[in-house]
Formats: sequence, structure tokens, C-alpha cells
Amino acid sequence: MNASLHTAIDPVDPVRLDKLAEVAVKVGLQLQKGQDLVMTAPIAALPLVRLITRHAYMAGAGLVTTFYADEETTLARYAHAPDESFDKASGWLYDGMARAFEGGAARLAIAGDNPMLLSGQDPAKVARANKANSIAYKPALEHISNFDINWNICSYPNPSWAKLVFPDLPIAEAVGRLAEAIFAASRVNETDPIAAWAAHNAELRKRSGWLNGKRFSALHFTGPGTDLTVGLADGHEWHGGASTAKNGVTCNPNIPTEEVFTTPHALRVDGHVSSTKPLSHQGTLIDNIQVRFEGGRIVEAKASKGEEVLLKVLDTDEGARRLGEVALVPHSSPISASGVLFYNTLFDENASCHIALGQCYSKCFLDGASLTPDQIKAQGGNSSLIHIDWMIGSDKVDIDGIRADGAKVPVMRKGEWA
Ligand code: ZN
Ligand code: ZN
Repeated sequence: MNASLHTAIDPVDPVRLDKLAEVAVKVGLQLQKGQDLVMTAPIAALPLVRLITRHAYMAGAGLVTTFYADEETTLARYAHAPDESFDKASGWLYDGMARAFEGGAARLAIAGDNPMLLSGQDPAKVARANKANSIAYKPALEHISNFDINWNICSYPNPSWAKLVFPDLPIAEAVGRLAEAIFAASRVNETDPIAAWAAHNAELRKRSGWLNGKRFSALHFTGPGTDLTVGLADGHEWHGGASTAKNGVTCNPNIPTEEVFTTPHALRVDGHVSSTKPLSHQGTLIDNIQVRFEGGRIVEAKASKGEEVLLKVLDTDEGARRLGEVALVPHSSPISASGVLFYNTLFDENASCHIALGQCYSKCFLDGASLTPDQIKAQGGNSSLIHIDWMIGSDKVDIDGIRADGAKVPVMRKGEWA
């Protein structure tokens, strides 16, 4: 046999990739008959885009429209574009997306970009481009953060991402290993992934139900480099797993997901906290973040890597220095147990307790759907152009719930549910 007749073996198992697509459509989105879908994806994720599109139409999708991003063309901008390019963003595209959501479309994003794509670029340009993009994206993002529509993020093992996660492996092997990690975390290795997701959602509901019953006024985190009190918003509500969007569809916004989360009080966060995993933010790695809060506001911040980008992010707007989310994840979560550092928030935030700077989720309030933005603000909900999760949990962190009368209740010990 001639060697040229051997076809290259695809390191991504097509059977489980198809299951991932089915889970994204049926569990992640719960796409409705006749509903349109707006999808964004890195161009490397084309095999998954095609399978999702197929499952979407089999589920009765009206129209599936996909927008692709390409790493080479992004880098070409940084290499050759005139300076004023970095204050531009495709507002017309995001306005169109917002119109699609207002018309009832669902939203799916495939993650998998190279987390370090822009690490060699001028941080000032990266920050300007990010800010312009955040401002332009706002009309569309609001429909997602307000949970007006069913939406989902899932991921594809892009080679440039796999190379970073498994730097010592040949590229095909790295992609294969990352694919395995994604499949395991997304529960598509189970014989019946849809049933496995139903059981997982029930477990997360139990956790959020327990926390909602306790009505803590604050959480107190202690660990190496961390002594942080996170006040919880008045009328906050814990969520986890599947939840119902304002359009009535019960979806799983993140695949995978292991977190239960709620809204902190924008004015009642005090103390200092250290990150426990590096954060990849729009192509830059920010590592060893250490910040100090006073009255809910970050008053000191440093990082051993990416500090310049971090400081620029904090200056995005007034709400960027305050918290919009606090989330609990046991250290023994399957993603954490895999021992893989993904450099991707969708995975790393589900391996560790985390907090998010910026915009809060209105659904994380009792009766959140009927609250006006002013009411949400009055109850302690933060607003910002950004929402950036970063990891503060480990097997060395303890968490207590603080009740209104000051009594402390153990919530987590050494990273596990107490
Ligand atoms: Zn989260
Ligand atoms: Zn978040």
C-alpha cells in the first residue's frame, strides 16, 4: 500500500463530538421548534458547528446563522492596522444580533480560542480593542445577562488551545487529550448523556436550594493570601445548572457546569483575595492576581503576569472594580479532579470557587425577572460593561456563611462542601 493512501486519523472522536452537539442543542439550548439560532465559533470548530447545525434543524430550528472568528486575521489587525482601528468594533453586527434575540433567536457560542493569542501584542491596543468591543456588544449582551433568551456556551478542542494545555505532546495527541477532557467534563461519555445531565441538574438544584434556605447575609473566604468577606445582595437567589430564561425555555447556559452562584452586594465586599489559577482574558494571561476590597470596591490590585491588562480592565467603568457574581464549586468537581489547567474560564471556573468582576445576573435575585435596573441596583446588584470570572478556590480555602445575626455556618472546608 502506498503511504499517501493513508488518511490522517482525526484525533477528535466523531461519535462523541456528535453527542456533544446533541447535548448542546437539547440540554444546553433546549432549542424550540421554529426558533432561530445565532452561533459564533472559531473557524477551527467547523466540525462541531456542522453537527450542531444538523441537530438544530432536526430539532426544528427555523434558521441557523453562524459567525466565525479566525486567529490569523485577528493577528493581522495587530500587525498591520492603523492605530485608530483599535477603537473600532462591529457595532452593526451586534445590533443585528440584538435584533435577532428580540425576534426570539437563541444564542450559542463555541469556545476554544487560543487563550494566549494576544499575549505578545501591545496591552494598550488590546485594552482599547476590548473596550470598544464591550461597548458595541452591550445591546446584544444585555439580552444574555438579563436571561431574556435561552443560550449556551460549549467548546471545541482547537489545536492552538490544545497546544497550550498540553505543551509537551505532539499536536494531534494534544488535541485528542483536550477532546477527551472536554467530552468527560461535558458528560458525553455516559451511555445516555441527556439522562446524565438531568441527574446532574437535580444535584445542583439541591445545593442551590440549601443555600437559598440559609439566607446568608455574607460569605467569608479564608485561605493562603485570602481573607475576604463577600456580602450578598439583598434578596439574592442562588442558581445552578438548568434554569429558565424569560422566554420560558429551561436551558443549561454552560456546558460544562459545576457551579452554584449568586449576586454579591456591590458595596459590601471587604478584605483581600488571591487568585488560585491563571485567568485568560481575551487573549492575555493574567496570573497571581492579588486585590484588596474596601466597601465593595477594589482599591489595590496587582498580578505577577498581565498586570497592565488587569489594571486597564479595572478602569473600564465604575462597576469594573466591583463584584457581580460569587460562585461555589467543590475542589473534587470532575473538572478539578482531571488535574488539567484549561486556561479557559468555561472550564477553570467550574473547577474552582470564583468571583466575577462587573455585571451581575438579574436572575440571581428573588423575583429577578420583574425587577427594574434601579431596583436591582438598590438591592446591591452591580452593573458594568464587563463580566470576568476569576478563580479563588482551592483545597486550602474554607468558607463560612454569615447569617444576619452574625452567626457563622460552615459552608466549605478545604474546598469541599461542609
Ligand atoms: Zn460563574
Ligand atoms: Zn461568571
